[in-house]
Amino acid sequence: MTAVDFTAWRHPVRAVACPDCKQPAGAMCERPSGHGASDFHAARKAEADRVFIKQHGEDAWIERTPAGWTIHPAGRAKEQRQDKPRTELTAAGEQYVMAGCERQEPRQGAQLDLWR
Ligand SMILES: [Zn+2]
Repeated sequence: MTAVDFTAWRHPVRAVACPDCKQPAGAMCERPSGHGASDFHAARKAEADRVFIKQHGEDAWIERTPAGWTIHPAGRAKEQRQDKPRTELTAAGEQYVMAGCERQEPRQGAQLDLWR
């Protein structure tokens, strides 16, 4: 099986063919009438999930950036490590860095939330 490029399309779900309406990778889902559907079929989203996890692992996630889509391998695990309180050495000794001053908001959700 060739690798699926989830960053190649306007939406990652487009990277897989639809098991429901049989549209190929890259094409939007279609209703039985042939009109374009407003959303992807549930079976296609599930297939995209399955392939994404198989290919990139359960910790990976995908993010929409100004330049397109970026896949972050093991992103969540890394974020969790960064959530540990940090200290810095000041003139008054070692002090905790104020929460919220340095740290970014933790990422919410995994790749699966993005297309559901
Ligand atoms: Zn479809």
